[in-house]
Formats: sequence, structure tokens, C-alpha cells
Amino acid sequence: MIYPTALKLTPENRLLIDWSDGQQRQYTIRSLREACPCATCREKRNQPPPDPLALPMLQQVQTQPLTIAAMQPVGNYAYAIHFSDGHDTGIFAFDLLRQLGEPV
Ligand SMILES: [Zn+2]
Repeated sequence: MIYPTALKLTPENRLLIDWSDGQQRQYTIRSLREACPCATCREKRNQPPPDPLALPMLQQVQTQPLTIAAMQPVGNYAYAIHFSDGHDTGIFAFDLLRQLGEPV
């Protein structure tokens, strides 16, 4: 199985992951947040898009740049990502992480 060998946050607020096969991929925090596999986020993504004529309400937290507060290994197969907006229920399996992001 391919697994991460190094994780770091860059000054540009990207996550960089070195993989055990030598590939390096970079991820925007927003793209990770939008790909969050937890039940709540999956449900949200399945809902119809909001009315485009309705004025969006900006919550306080959304005006802050999103970043990663912490990443914790889950078993040997995943990382739990704690986002700076307080969302921490997403368990990102290695194969999902590997599909996201882009090669550096
Ligand atoms: Zn989620």
C-alpha cells in the first residue's frame, strides 16, 4: 500500500505530502475541506445547490483563511484532518488523499 512518508504545510497554505512511492502531491486546504468524506459533508454535497439569487451569508469563520489545525493518524490507513473552521470529523483514507491534490 502507498502511504504518506512526510506531511507539511507550506507558507502558501498548501498541504504537501510525500508518498512512499516517491511522488509528492500538493493540496489546497479548501479542496480537502470540500472533499471531506464524513457523513455530514457527504449529505451536504447531495443537497441541491442553493438559490443563486439568494444573498450568501458570510459566517465569521468563513472570512478567516482556512487551514489545517491538526492531522492525526487513524490506524495505518487514514488521517483525521482538523480544519481551522472547527470541522474535525473527516477521516481521509490514504487512497482518497492520493486521488486528491496534484503532483508537484
Ligand atoms: Zn466533513
